[in-house]
Formats: sequence, C-alpha cells, structure tokens
Amino acid sequence: MTFSDLKLPKPILDAIEDTGYTEPTPIQGKAIPIIMRRKDVIGIAQTGTGKTAAFTLPMLAILDNIKPKAPGIRALIISPTRELVAQIRDNIIDYSLHLNVKLATIYGGVGEQPQIQALQNGAEIVIATPGRLMDLMEQGHIDMRGLEILVMDEADRMLDMGFLPAMRKIVKKMPNDRQTLLFSATLSGQIEQLTREFQQKPSTVEIGDRTNPAKTVRQCVYEIPRHLKFPLLLHLFKSPELYTVLIFVTMKHHASRLAKHLSQSDIPAEAIHGDRTQNQRQRALDKFKQGKLRVLVGTDVAARGIDISGVTHVINYRVPENPEDYVHRIGRTGRAEKEGDAFTILTADELEYAEAVERFLDKKIKRDKLEGFDYLYTAMLDDKPIKSFKKPKRGGGKRRRR
Ligand code: AMP
Repeated sequence: MTFSDLKLPKPILDAIEDTGYTEPTPIQGKAIPIIMRRKDVIGIAQTGTGKTAAFTLPMLAILDNIKPKAPGIRALIISPTRELVAQIRDNIIDYSLHLNVKLATIYGGVGEQPQIQALQNGAEIVIATPGRLMDLMEQGHIDMRGLEILVMDEADRMLDMGFLPAMRKIVKKMPNDRQTLLFSATLSGQIEQLTREFQQKPSTVEIGDRTNPAKTVRQCVYEIPRHLKFPLLLHLFKSPELYTVLIFVTMKHHASRLAKHLSQSDIPAEAIHGDRTQNQRQRALDKFKQGKLRVLVGTDVAARGIDISGVTHVINYRVPENPEDYVHRIGRTGRAEKEGDAFTILTADELEYAEAVERFLDKKIKRDKLEGFDYLYTAMLDDKPIKSFKKPKRGGGKRRRR
C-alpha cells in the first residue's frame, strides 16, 4: 500500500514525501481510510507505531476538503502531557507544510496569555492537555461551535492521570455531530466505557498483539544485588553503542539523583520529570535530540510518548509496578522499525514486578550476564555483602561482612 492509495490530497502527499516516509505503517493503512469516511475510530496502538500520523493526516485532509461550519476551532487534539502536545504540533507542522492551517498549543506550566492570543488569532487546530484546556474554556476563550474532529490521544494514560472529569466537562461543550477519534495503547473496560460516552458507533482498529512490544527491541534482564546497580550501569556505559539512552525510574527525586550521579561520572545526563519547569524539560529534551546529552532519566509519566528517533537503549533502572508501563517504556526504542535494546536491572526487591511484567508479556525475558563485570570483585570494593543472590561461580576471595 502507498500513501496515494489512501486518497490523501496532493499537498499532504508532497509533505509526506518531504518527511521521507515511503509507505503507511499498519495503523495508518487501517485507520486513515475509515477516518476519511468520517467515522468514529478507536485506535489501539502504542506510540512508535506511527499513530500520530494515523490521525493527523486524515484530519488535515478533511479540514482541507470542507468549509468551516462556524468560527472557532475545527479540530481539537487532547493529549496527556506537554511533551506529547509539542510533538504532535511538530508533526502537524511537517504534514501541513503545503497547506495553510493555523495551530495553537495549550498546556500548563507556562503563561496563559500567548495561548489565548493564538486562539483569538483564529487557530483552527488546537492541541491541548486537559487541565489548561478546561481552564481556558471556563474563562470563555474557546469556541467549539465549529468543531469537526475531536481526537483523544493516549486515552488510557489520561484516565490514569485522573483527567476524566476534565474531559467530560470539555466534551459537554462540543457539538454532537463531531467526529471522535480515540487512541489508546490498551483497551480496558474503562476505555470501553469512555468510548460509549464520547463516540458514536466507533470502528475499532487494532494492530498486532497489544502486549507484544515492537519486534525490533531486544530485551534482557540483569539480575544483580541492589548495591551493584550503579556500578553495573556505569559498566554498561563503557559500551560506545549506548549513545542515546533513556533510563526509567519510578520516583522524581530518583531521576534527579541518578542524573546527577551519572554526570559526576562523566556521562552527560539530565532528569525529566514533572517537578522541573516546562523550559527545563524542553531544554533537556532538545539537548538529548541534538546528541549533546547521552542520557535522559525520567519517570513513566514524564517520558510518556516522547518521540525521539534514534533512542538506542532503554534502561529500566527500576522495574515498573504497572506492567503496561514496561511496554510503553521499551517502546521508546526500536521505533519505526529501527533496532533497539531494552535492559532491565533487576534486584531481589523488584522480583514480583518483573514477574508481573513477564506474565503480562506471556514470556520470560532473557537473563544475561555482562562480559567483564566481575560481580564479586565489585562487591569487595563495596562495604555491603551480597544478599539474596547466588554467589558468582568465578573469582576468589572472601566476601567482607559488616
Ligand atoms: P508515533 O507512533 O506517532 O509516535 O510515531 C513514531 C515515529 O514514526 C515518529 O518518529 C514518526 O515520525 C515515524 N513515522 C510515522 N509514520 C511513518 C511512516 N509511514 N514511515 C516511517 N516513519 C513513520
């Protein structure tokens, strides 16, 4: 299948050509024709599958093809995080290069005034996080009478983040004859409930096995005593292959601390989490994308959906407590058919979470030993004894006891 088969107008086909995409991804091939027929769609797809283009390309085609029915916003995309909003905007800018569309982004953590100004300047497509969108709506800055298309992106994550009440308030203000597209990595009972509330006779489009991460990601687990986590991490970084690395932890302060320790070990790293300002997060992300930063350390919420092509490695420095987060995390690498590695550094206290991940994936993740990382030697440098793990076979010397 080619993009021309999808009956997209010429200016959009030209823009796609500029981006270098040669053919639609499976989710695009399935969703675009249905969206072009103006039907509601439930898209079950993880990030990394090309899902953003799956809704933005037909959205641009539809808006290009029909006249505005009223002043105000014509398409609204609601997404859970500021980073995702910025990413979707960047994609739309690329795809609408040969069209004339006015965009606005709306998210918290920055001043309202420029966003209000962009709306007053006649933004047709608005990309927003739910909280700030609701604030501006309640202040009367958003006119939705002409709304043609609503997209709820990463709907499962928006529910997790407690945005349901805000979403309900926002949707109440919308015309009923709109087209509603809902994208989610998973199809839970809650999502089904949401689709019943917000959509009309939706078609479900699903690609692959939901629990099966991209096939291009090699996964392995390093089981290790807790106090050797950081030495092991440093050892991993001896490989020059690790040059664009996302490390996941579960707590914000752990992200900051780990980034600091890595930087002190001459591995340029920064943390990205909700306690950092929008500017700090964006700057870190830009540096990472430009290759000036080798590592970004993040929490699940902050790193959700970040689209950085060329992430070579994802490292789970803490195993996520929610198995679905594991799939989201490792989906940050191996994007758009590129290869990637996902390492999980596992300690005894996290075994139950690792087992939950394996049950979710319905497979055992390969255990690996690291060449040249002498567990016992490193342990002897440390004061703490090795607990809970089997003694390594090689190497001599007694363990020190405290
Ligand atoms: P997404 O799932 O929307 O986060 O997209 C993941 C990545 O795939 C992004 O970097 C897109 O630019 C890229 N992408 C989207 N569609 C295609 C395509 N048809 N061919 C190649 N890359 C694509």
